[in-house]
Amino acid sequence: MLKNSIRIARIGGISINIHVSWFLIFILITWTLAVSYFPLNYPAWSPALYWTVGLVTSILFFISVLLHELAHSFVANARGLPVHDITLFILGGVAQLSEEPQTPGTEFVMAVVGPLASIVLGVCFGVVSYAARGVIPPLAALAGYLAFINVLLGFFNLIPGFPLDGGRVLRSILWQATGNLQSATRWASLVGQAVAYLFILAGIAMVFGVHIPFVGTGFVSGLWFVFIGWFLDNAASSSYRQLTVRNLLAGHRVREVMSRDCPEVSPGLTIERLVNEHVLPAGARCFPVVQGGLVRGLLTIHNIKGVPQGRWGTTTVEQVMTPLDGLKRVGPDEELWAAMQNMTADGVNQLPVMDDGQLLGMLGRDNIVSFIRIKGELGI
Ligand SMILES: [Zn+2]
Repeated sequence: MLKNSIRIARIGGISINIHVSWFLIFILITWTLAVSYFPLNYPAWSPALYWTVGLVTSILFFISVLLHELAHSFVANARGLPVHDITLFILGGVAQLSEEPQTPGTEFVMAVVGPLASIVLGVCFGVVSYAARGVIPPLAALAGYLAFINVLLGFFNLIPGFPLDGGRVLRSILWQATGNLQSATRWASLVGQAVAYLFILAGIAMVFGVHIPFVGTGFVSGLWFVFIGWFLDNAASSSYRQLTVRNLLAGHRVREVMSRDCPEVSPGLTIERLVNEHVLPAGARCFPVVQGGLVRGLLTIHNIKGVPQGRWGTTTVEQVMTPLDGLKRVGPDEELWAAMQNMTADGVNQLPVMDDGQLLGMLGRDNIVSFIRIKGELGI
């Protein structure tokens, strides 16, 4: 789940979130429709009707974007790539994949189904608009606008630059043709960046009054194009970076980078003694709590910070540790990349590495960071 998002619903095991920036776009669309678009096209309505139709149109637009993302998510789930949440934000939506597709075919279907859903929705709204013409004018107006916006959304997303859906389609085709995922990603990102620069250039030209064929001109539209271009450029390079990190970690296992210096402590130890004897002198940050040879739980600096200092003398390790049952864990031979994805998905900074009920060490984000840094320094 992205930062600054609010969960509003759950559909088929997928939580639907709204990012704060989305409220801005919701108000902006409603306002533009109610004071400008509908009054210009349908001058005879009352202000109350403009606002009502504007609001309903915005809500249906929001549902349309959601259906686009749900289309991606349902295909992903059906292909064994679980999607846990969808977040709607200022420029549309993102369905967060917990892992990348394993074959070009899966990637192709997953990517293409979103724009297809938008175009099909657009056609449906078009039919409704046509049928309601002269019968229920506000419905015809609303459906007409939604037909246009959904078709636009579908075709915009088919622009062949990563990370737009079209970029994924392009990547899957290159991947299928060359068998090389890395170079396919590189090319799809480069095309993505080229598209981004085109948007920025067109935007700047529009700001200075140049008329772009099929697009138009104008200061505000120009700035909007620059903004979209800047966003696309960022997204293209960050998704390329993500894949590069993935390649750096590929083939490496958890046991190679986990830290093993986790001193065992007994459940009856007080926090005060733990801090004085283990945390301060040795600098250890995690402690398996062991009784009679069995791991009962885990104590980290995080648990200690939750106890006021005045109570360190009377609080025992057992009272504040995280019991073993409540712990997410990772196996020593699990892929490093997968372990990192799990950590990100669960929002934790470290995971105990366990094998057969035995604690072998801890895997922290800092372990992965220094592993990548050392690989980089040595040029491996
Ligand atoms: Zn999409």
